[in-house]
Amino acid sequence: MKAKSHAAILLGTLMVGFSAVSSHQAHGSDRAGANPASTANETNPLLGEWTTPFGVPPFDRIKEEHYFPAFQKAIGVKRREVDAIIKSSQPATFANTIETLDASGEMLDRVGGVFYNLKSAETNDQIQGIARQIAPLTSALDDDILLNEQLFARIKAVWEQRDTLGLNAQQRKLVEETYKDFVRGGAKLAAEQKTRLRAINEELSLLGLQFSDNLLKETNAYQLVIDKREDLAGLPENVIAAAAEAAGNAGMEGKWVFTLHAPSIWPFLSYADNRELRRQILTAYTKRSDQGNGRDNKAILVRTAALRAERARLLGYPSHAHFALEERMAKTPDQVYRLLNQLWTPALAVAKKEAADFQAVIQQEGHDFKLEPCDWRYYAEKVRKARYNLDENELRPYFSLENVRQGAFAVAGKLYGLSFVERTDLPKYHNEVRTFEVKDADGSHLGVFIVDFHPRASKRGGAWCSGFRDQYVKDGRDIRPIVTNVCNFTRPVGGAPALLSLEEAETLFHEFGHGLHSLLSRIHYGTLGRVPRDFVELPSQIMEHWALEPQVLKSYARHWQTGEPIPDDLIARIKEAERFNQGFATVEYLAASFLDMEWHVLGEAKGVDATRFENTALGKIGLMPEIVTRYRSPYFQHIFAGGYSAGYYSYIWSEVLDADAFQAFKEKGIFDPATARSFRTNILEKGGTEDAMEMFKHFRGREPSVEPLLEKRGLK
Ligand SMILES: [Zn+2]
Repeated sequence: MKAKSHAAILLGTLMVGFSAVSSHQAHGSDRAGANPASTANETNPLLGEWTTPFGVPPFDRIKEEHYFPAFQKAIGVKRREVDAIIKSSQPATFANTIETLDASGEMLDRVGGVFYNLKSAETNDQIQGIARQIAPLTSALDDDILLNEQLFARIKAVWEQRDTLGLNAQQRKLVEETYKDFVRGGAKLAAEQKTRLRAINEELSLLGLQFSDNLLKETNAYQLVIDKREDLAGLPENVIAAAAEAAGNAGMEGKWVFTLHAPSIWPFLSYADNRELRRQILTAYTKRSDQGNGRDNKAILVRTAALRAERARLLGYPSHAHFALEERMAKTPDQVYRLLNQLWTPALAVAKKEAADFQAVIQQEGHDFKLEPCDWRYYAEKVRKARYNLDENELRPYFSLENVRQGAFAVAGKLYGLSFVERTDLPKYHNEVRTFEVKDADGSHLGVFIVDFHPRASKRGGAWCSGFRDQYVKDGRDIRPIVTNVCNFTRPVGGAPALLSLEEAETLFHEFGHGLHSLLSRIHYGTLGRVPRDFVELPSQIMEHWALEPQVLKSYARHWQTGEPIPDDLIARIKEAERFNQGFATVEYLAASFLDMEWHVLGEAKGVDATRFENTALGKIGLMPEIVTRYRSPYFQHIFAGGYSAGYYSYIWSEVLDADAFQAFKEKGIFDPATARSFRTNILEKGGTEDAMEMFKHFRGREPSVEPLLEKRGLK
């Protein structure tokens, strides 16, 4: 079983998250298994053979009406494939049971790959409606497989003989993972409990969709419309120009529109002198899906937490966090809390110092108000400028999107010998998409890389990496992956190219790092492509280090007009400012991580008051009033509609790993061929074929140390 839920892997650190849909409607009751031979149209391009180069989906021929019949057909095919395993008259073997199950569902993976990627990147009401129709069908399919007694008996039979079958390492791992999937999926439960588990899974699949639907509508519902020029005071010209364009597009010529989308709200909060307007837009942001209207998410998230807790109890775990963490590198909630607490105290102390600095500036300016959340980014920007002579907008001209992209590709070239050849002859789902063939050092084909960089109304917020096809081996043939990076970067305005902020440039390297992890994969079984959530940010976050290395900056950060490389003095100021505001960044992130854990260590969540619960959780850690948790519960899509429940801590867990792993490069040289080779073979090529800690130790020669992270964030 590859990609059990087909949910696109949401890997962006900036994921705000929304997906379009109109009203929630009751889902159909037609379980796919009842009529597997649906009347799939012969001409349905999702089902036919893809004769495009590299088997890229024929986007130009796929229409909305093709999805549902394709899903019905593909679910039916998967059921028949699994049925054949169950009904086999042969005794269970590795080949006829475990391996065959791993290979099943190829058509469903293909259909789901297109559908779920476009649901995030190029959606519409129709697609969102189809998602609601399909969620109960795929949930039922998963449960029908995982809860099938005869199938589990066959898997268990192989699992019991695993020591005597002469299996190689990947085969043995596949047996263990498959057995574990079934046990964790409820295979050992009594019939009555299985029935309850199915109902829980089905309801959860719909709650997640409803959560993100509400959030999208709330996010899109708000506009800050400015009609007086004086209210734009403090804002840089490029930000004003983008707001004017947005107003023009909305039929409000001559005005300026700001939204809750990242390229709009964050610059506004950093630069707008008008404090009242800053407060308005930030309040709108933090009150999303928390206004008691039809888009309120509080009841949905409490229900979600309650069902997760109940499912964990059914399966014999004290909480959902215990259940989820068993599969991660961290293993237990205690381990997660240990790291979070270790960082919290020093981070809070640093953030309090930062707040005092900003308060002093407020006083110097002759004001007597107290620093509030709507002031933080504004004064941070002022102090950054005063202290380091560093203005975000001074940097942008050096970070044109095209230069940053080429810079990231060049790093992959130097480290791993990869090259990227643009292909304009392949089908695309949107004309802003660009497609590259990725080649290894010896010129052989590694995969296809699709990039889609700018925001659209049809795209979810945030930045992420996912795949239209994962790498695996089929009948001895290496099937290479089709990988995509989708982002919401600043658009080009006027005659200039898209000029990124430093943070956006780092995000590009980050998502590209996930991309490399997928592109370099060399595993045999698709099931083993799953990487623990708290390890998967290592390949992405480590790339952010190269993005800011002076020698790398010199090569790609060139002024878009003059071609001049970024001056040494500016690099020095970036380096000096690196630890600036890290108290804030760490505290707002850790607060959200604690909140996530608190929701998921509950043994029972029924009847919980969401607002009071959140306040208590944040009060417990002593979150300072000047900082809002990065995500409040009603818009915490990562944990209530993404794959990060009891997992938001993963970014900082992985940061321990990437900070330490990059030290290995620093010690030997950031492009040292042997170190790069080791990182590639021990980590990037391995998928989930080995234990994460073992992989890290193979690369580093020891367990990770937290010291480089503390150093980097200025927390020691
Ligand atoms: Zn990531």
